[in-house]
Parts: sequence; C-alpha cells; structure tokens
Amino acid sequence: MDEVMGGARTLDGKAVAARVQEEIRQRIAARAARDGQRPGLAVVQVGEDPASSVYVRNKRRTAERLGMRSREVHLPADAGTEAVLAAVADLAADDAVHGILVQLPLPPAVDVEAVLAAIPPDKDVDGLTVTNLGRLLAGRPGLVPCTPAGIMTLLGAYGITLDGARAVVIGRSRLVGLPVALLLQQANATVTVVHTHTRDAARLAREAEVLVVAAGRPQLVTAEWVRPGAVVVDVGIHRQGERLVGDVEAASVARVAGYLSPVPGGVGPMTIASLMANTWQAFTEQVPPPEEP
Ligand code: NAD
Repeated sequence: MDEVMGGARTLDGKAVAARVQEEIRQRIAARAARDGQRPGLAVVQVGEDPASSVYVRNKRRTAERLGMRSREVHLPADAGTEAVLAAVADLAADDAVHGILVQLPLPPAVDVEAVLAAIPPDKDVDGLTVTNLGRLLAGRPGLVPCTPAGIMTLLGAYGITLDGARAVVIGRSRLVGLPVALLLQQANATVTVVHTHTRDAARLAREAEVLVVAAGRPQLVTAEWVRPGAVVVDVGIHRQGERLVGDVEAASVARVAGYLSPVPGGVGPMTIASLMANTWQAFTEQVPPPEEP
C-alpha cells in the first residue's frame, strides 16, 4: 500500500477494492448460509461497444466471484427505446434481481432518460435515477453513483483529511463530477467545480489540496495545475495504442503531488467495488435478514 510513483504515494484502488470486495464476499456467504438468499445483479448492454463489453464482463465476473447471482441482458445495437424499456421492466419485476445497471452510453436512438426513469430507485445500483440523485442532493440515504462513491472510499482508505480542505473537481457530469462535488462538500470540504467554461482552470486547480479530475481529456492536467503535496484523483481512462492513460499526465504530476491514483488500478477498480457495495445495500434493503431467533 505504500508504493510511490515518482514522489507521490499511490492511491492503490486495486488493493482497496480487493479489501472492500472481500468484506462483501464474506457477508454474502454468511447471509446465504443463514437463509439461502443472495444478491442478484443484472446488467443491460445495448450494442457491441468494445469498452462497454469489457466493463460488463468485469462487473459480471466480479459479482459471481463474490457469490452474487448475475444476469446479463444483451440487446442488439439497433434495439430501440421500447425494447430497452421492456428489458428493464422485466428485470424490475424479477424478485431475484436486486440491482439493475444499464451500461452507458446507449446508442443515440435510445432515450436514455426514459430508460433510467424505468429503473426502480431501490434497484438503481448506478445511482443515476433522478430519485437517487435527489436523495444525494438532499443528503438523504440512497444509492450513490459508483465512481464518486468509489473515490470517497479510496480517499477514506488513505485517511485523507477532507474536513476544511480546499477541493477542486474538474468536470460536472451527472456520472462523476457533479456527484463527487456534492460528496466532498458533505464531507466538509470547500469545493470548486471547474468545467469547459471556467476561466483559468489551471490556476483554480493549483489551489486544491484535493484535486479530482474527471474531464474526459487525455492528460489534460500537468504538473503546473497541481499544488505541491496535493492529493490527485485521476478518473479519466483513455486507450492510447497499447496503453491506458488518464486525464492526468502521471509522470509530471507524480513529481509534485503528495498522492496520485494510477490509471489503470485507481478509480476503475473502486467503481466496480462500489457497484458491488451498492448491490449488497440494495439487496439487504429489499430482502432484510430474518429476525434473530
Ligand atoms: P463527460 O464528458 O460527461 O464530462 C466531462 C466534464 O469535464 C464536463 O463537465 C466538461 O465541462 C468538463 N471538461 C471537459 N474538458 C475540460 C477542460 N479542458 N477543462 C475543464 N473542464 C473540462 O465525462 P464523464 O462521464 O464525467 O467522465 C470523465 C472521464 O472519466 C472520462 O475519461 C471517462 O472515461 C472516465 N470515467 C471513468 C470511470 C472509471 O470507472 N474509471 C467511470 C466513469 C468515467
């Protein structure tokens, strides 16, 4: 856990995710031994996007390894909104399915808002329905989007102080930037959100003690954007030939940052671990354990 990347300590998402998942595996085994019940996770994929196929396969394999039931619904690329809605309705009605995830992005012809709205909020393990985002905004319990939740778990695992910290989030998407900004603020950080219309983004980023980068731009953030000693979380993931790079130029940033999450092996594994945690949470809420005798 104390690996060092060019000066910065590594925020080792792979190791933290493995610990989180082992804990869930044990809980699932204990619960199954008690009353035979197990969480069920269903993933809906539309089309053949290669990156999506890798993500879906990883999610299914991880779920099965932890002792969950997993279902995969794979629709052809030309499936329309009605077909996707029918698949979601089928899973919504299935008592053995406690979590439903629709792999995004959907083909442009599919109405993504209609599809998300069809997921019952209690089975919405991606936390992307209006209901769960509203719960997050209101500070009420709910299912939190997986990547933001994973980032918070990763920061927590390294004991990063958020209370009173200056945090900057680069990106304001519904999937990552916006919810992680809310979570950091709920953890008592003072949060600035930087986006494409922000003037002098690098100067703002340099004020951050905690910098979360979810811009979707390969190696956007260089050492000049980073305050010495800052905690830098790189959410981006981009394939460049044979290698994967993030939104952070790791080689230069590692020389100034105090902590840096690697790509791969940082936020990616934490996202899957959070999906597993959300599925466990959804399951225990839908199928509460039997009363102690
Ligand atoms: P998105 O494209 O929906 O949003 C990007 C955001 O960044 C936008 O709000 C935009 O305003 C902002 N932005 C873009 N360029 C900018 C710039 N030059 N300066 C300042 N702000 C800028 O992307 P997303 O869904 O939030 O994902 C972000 C990245 O994270 C992508 O690379 C994606 O592949 C990756 N991602 C990784 C995981 C994971 O599990 N590791 C999960 C989700 C997303």
